[in-house]
Amino acid sequence: MEKKELLYEGKAKKLFKTNEEEKLWVTYLNQATALNGVKKDTIAGKGQLNNQITSLIFSYLKQAGINSHFIQQISETDQLIEAVKMFPLEVVIRNVAAGSFSKRLGISEGTALDFPILEFYFKEDKLDDPMINEDHIAYLKIATKSEVQQIKELAHRINLALIQLFKDIGIRLVDFKLEFGKRQDGTIILADEISPDTCRLWDLATNEHLDKDIYRLDLGDLVPVYEEVLTRLKKLN
Ligand code: ADP
Ligand code: UDP
Repeated sequence: MEKKELLYEGKAKKLFKTNEEEKLWVTYLNQATALNGVKKDTIAGKGQLNNQITSLIFSYLKQAGINSHFIQQISETDQLIEAVKMFPLEVVIRNVAAGSFSKRLGISEGTALDFPILEFYFKEDKLDDPMINEDHIAYLKIATKSEVQQIKELAHRINLALIQLFKDIGIRLVDFKLEFGKRQDGTIILADEISPDTCRLWDLATNEHLDKDIYRLDLGDLVPVYEEVLTRLKKLN
């Protein structure tokens, strides 16, 4: 596989074309951002941790019957993915109140939710990724009603699989963000990444944060915490 020209440089990853049109080469960066890029730092080792964690989680999801763009990990920091047309959506699922949900609705962090709550955000940096609903999605022609239905069903299935995965390694899956893309034949698949950058993970025994809140809230060094998540995931495989 040959790495070709840079296609996109984001806040956490670089996407390159390859010699095969339907495959992309992703490099995970050592960059950490929060508050939509306002807080920004380089953290040595973060890229390889998120690449390895995402690779293990996507492999696990595949075994659980959930397709994603993930093809294979090709180095510590790099992986090969299937190119898809991304929906400009961030799909958040919450099992426990935290973050913006707690702030907006005045519900204490840590309150278990009676059922998983799904939220859509319009992935548009200029607008600060506003929360939107299904009517907004239809109006903006981001996805059809049937596509939204499929995305919601997939997100809930992924939630069930991830809750179990993390429970098995002593972690409570509080909330997380997913992104989806569409193949040329119209099939919708999970894309982007699943890592402590995109999930809130709390230790089941101690409630300790094992995720990007360490960085967001200046709670200490993120690297040993992400290493802990990776070590636990590796033990499962
Ligand atoms: P951001 O764009 O939020 O700064 P990243 O640095 O993680 O985020 O950049 C990765 C970009 O690649 C995101 O815009 C994401 O939507 C996009 N992407 C993820 N998976 C795929 C895929 N399979 N095909 C095309 N684009 C993808
Ligand atoms: N999240 C993410 N990318 C974003 C926004 C949120 O990965 O651009 C994840 C975040 O890590 C958390 C969940 O989505 O696991 C819910 O985040 P929330 O809405 O509470 O926002 P925050 O307060 O973390 O910005």
